[in-house]
Amino acid sequence: MDDIPGSKRKIMNKVILFNKRPVGKPTLEDFKFVEEEKPTAESGQVLLKTLYVSVDPYLRGRMTTAKSYIPPFELNKPLQSTLVAEVVESKLEGFNAGDFITGNLDWKEYQVSNGSGLNKVDANAASLSAYLGILGMTGLTAYFGLTEIAHPKPGETIVVSGAAGAVGSIVGQIAKIFGCKVIGLAGSDDKVALLKSKFGYDEAINYKTTEDMKAAIAAAAPNGVDIYFDNVGGEISDAVLANINKFARVPLCGAISSYNDTEVETGPRIQSILVKNSVLMQGFIVSNYLPKFKEGIAQLSTWLQEGKLTYSETIVDGFDQIPQAFIDLFDGKNNGKMIVKI
Ligand code: NDP
Repeated sequence: MDDIPGSKRKIMNKVILFNKRPVGKPTLEDFKFVEEEKPTAESGQVLLKTLYVSVDPYLRGRMTTAKSYIPPFELNKPLQSTLVAEVVESKLEGFNAGDFITGNLDWKEYQVSNGSGLNKVDANAASLSAYLGILGMTGLTAYFGLTEIAHPKPGETIVVSGAAGAVGSIVGQIAKIFGCKVIGLAGSDDKVALLKSKFGYDEAINYKTTEDMKAAIAAAAPNGVDIYFDNVGGEISDAVLANINKFARVPLCGAISSYNDTEVETGPRIQSILVKNSVLMQGFIVSNYLPKFKEGIAQLSTWLQEGKLTYSETIVDGFDQIPQAFIDLFDGKNNGKMIVKI
């Protein structure tokens, strides 16, 4: 892929385009691999080489045309997510070759940028991939959802769904720092074991092999549930809410169980549960806390350095694997943050 001096041969660059809007679970046919000429930096631009690509459940929402907090992907245009990239050429003040950045960028091996939305990251302070997880969007989601909405107190019981994922694995650990009893729900025995051995969860339940989730949560939380950090929605959340305590707080972080639904699901009506128990349920988007991101990263970094937090990554190798890694999120193939290394 490197330029050959004096050669007129075009240097090509791999790109992944949005081919069609998925119906149900995404498939590889929803993506199109193409090649374009490798760009060069013009004045006022940097040339970026992609190193790590974050794949995230919320990208599924961008594949629909539904109105949301972020615009839908356009067909035949590159998909995007948060990347870690290296500046390989700079004609832009403030950036030098060798700098590392994160940004919401195209699924391309190389791309140019005018610097808008790029954040420099320090490769000496943490591994570069950590800026897509614990020190990036998912770490901040865990931190702000828990501290700003749930306000955990020592001795309280918290249940976390999607507990072994990027957000969930951090939520449980932060709740432990606040002195809570922490119960995790995840989709395999390996994840259940990891929650207890690595992430310090007090109890963990495999929702795929447990027939009566309401009873299993009641057994794990004999004093009821004071906080429910909801990453998944659906029947799992119905079972948790059946165990909810008076004055409980429920940060609604995500609802991955319904992202591939083709029809709107109906479940138990929850209003009377919330009223009877004076429960606070609040949806949130991590970007609500943008003005506090610096504070959040500083706190997460401190806990990481102090050994109070740890993290897992599932790192998949190769640019061509980006779509499959994304699809695999819906089959629970990741422990912690799902990342593609280029
Ligand atoms: P994860 O790393 O948790 O990966 C997704 C996980 O979801 C899978 O590993 C799988 O784990 C679980 N899952 C997949 N399908 C289902 C299903 N049908 N029912 C139950 N669980 C399922 O992803 P993230 O940590 O990045 O995201 C977690 C949630 O948080 C998502 O809903 C996401 O949209 C949301 N989110 C919200 C943000 C916000 O600002 N509000 C920001 C970031 C994420 P398992 O094996 O346990 O089933």
